[in-house]
Order: sequence, then structure tokens, then C-alpha cells
Amino acid sequence: MPCFQYNTNPHAFLRKVARSRRSVLLLDYDGTLAPFSKERDHAHPYPGVCELVTEIIETCRTRVAFITGRPAHELLDLIHISPAPEIWGTHGLERLRSDGDYKVRDIDPVTREALDKGDQWLDGLGLEYLVEKKPGTLALHWRGLSPDTIHDIRGNVLLGWLPIADRAGLTIEDFDGGVELRSPLGNKADVVRMLLNQMQSDAPVAFLGDDVADERVYEAMQDRGLRVLVRPHWRETAADLWLRPPEQLIEFLQDWLEACRSPRKGSSHIAFTLAAGEKYLHRGI
Ligand SMILES: [Mg+2]
Repeated sequence: MPCFQYNTNPHAFLRKVARSRRSVLLLDYDGTLAPFSKERDHAHPYPGVCELVTEIIETCRTRVAFITGRPAHELLDLIHISPAPEIWGTHGLERLRSDGDYKVRDIDPVTREALDKGDQWLDGLGLEYLVEKKPGTLALHWRGLSPDTIHDIRGNVLLGWLPIADRAGLTIEDFDGGVELRSPLGNKADVVRMLLNQMQSDAPVAFLGDDVADERVYEAMQDRGLRVLVRPHWRETAADLWLRPPEQLIEFLQDWLEACRSPRKGSSHIAFTLAAGEKYLHRGI
């Protein structure tokens, strides 16, 4: 068992959710609410997750927002949550509100041209079959390939992408299952900072993520909420809490729901906080 250093007491956090007029639940999708799948269209949520999130949206005083690298409408098709949640897609380059209002950031000509060049480079390498084109980004997916093949592909891709990104001011970021060339405007941490600024400073906020790229979100939150790492295996992280999916993820969402259903004043009768506490892997209580 690795050594953990957690800064936030999840019991106290859920008690705060129980007492607060408004809370915020920010959710990554792939790897967090859904197991990875070689076929990206088949990356369905863990059983029970959508039902719980739906109930949280319907009955809790909680703003639920998905923040994902996927295109917003693609995620909407996968989650089947009604009423539809707020979705920040393509790392925040898209915003899809629950009422269907959709906005996408303008992509400047320099970025568009650089992405075209990045795409042509992949075409030249014969990798078009691995490419996903999104607004302002180009993602190369290699899940399911052998480690040696991935190593070779990554090296060849970066050989062309690095100078392209350098000239146009784009970013290159590894993610779990591939690498991405994208506009620097696409940044999940910026989305979280903006959402935090919109909320009352004392509103409890939690972000659930999994990827190394989500570490930037954890860092952006600092001590402004509960930072949760959801993944089957431990890795070094700035998160406050580690949940192994799907069981501990489901329990966390159930506890959130239970907390929301509790009367706002007084917490002595919130039995779940005592019963639920020991199942979370944490330190510092
Ligand atoms: Mg993820």
C-alpha cells in the first residue's frame, strides 16, 4: 500500500454538502465515469453511474458539469442523462448547456493551418486511421497497440508535431491512450477556475478525474474543494482522495446523494458520514 498524503477530510466535505445551499460536482468522463474502451464509441459509463448523476441533478442542490476531452455532443450520446447536464467538451473549447445552447470557441487561422499541417504529417505516416479531429484539436489514439508500436508511433508523430506546435503556439499533451495537438485555449483547468469564480466561495466543490492531464485541474483547485482521483491503480497525484472504480465511485455518488437529501441545518443525524467514512482511502482525519 503506497503512502498517501491527503489534505481534505471527505467526511467533513460531505457534511458541508449536506449543509450547503449549493454544491458543485465536476466530472471528467473517460477513465473516471467510464472504463476505457479500444472502441471509443463503446466507452459506456459504469452501471449505475448515470442513474445516480441523474438523481443528483434532479434532486440535489448541486451544479453538475462534465469537463471532458470528448466533443460535447458525443459525450451527450454516451451518457443518456435526462435532464441533460452541462458539458464542457474538447477540453473546454465547447460548451453545451442543459437547455441545448451550444457554443464553440473561434479557432484562429494560424491554429487551423497548424492543425492541418499536423494532420498532413499523420497522413504521411499512414496514421489517419488513428486520428480524431475535433474543434481546435487533433488527437491520435493508440489504445490497444503494443508498447513497442506506441513508442515508435509517438516518436515519429512528435518529430513532425513539435516544430508545428512551436511555430503556431499550440500545445502537445499526452493523455491516457494517445497524444494530442491542440489550441492552448482548450484547457480543463481554465474551465474549472472559471466555474469556481462563478460560485459562492464557500460552496463545496469536487472534481473527479483520472488522467495525468487532470493533475493540472487538481493544482488549479488547490484547497478550494475535494480533488478525487478515480482509477483502478494508484499513481502519484495531487488529489485528496483516491477511489477505485466502480464500487467506490458508486458509493461516493450515493453518499453525495444522501448528503443532498439531508436537512441543511445540523449534521448530527447524518448517519452516513460515520458509516461511510472508513471505506474511503484517505488520511488526515
Ligand atoms: Mg479521463
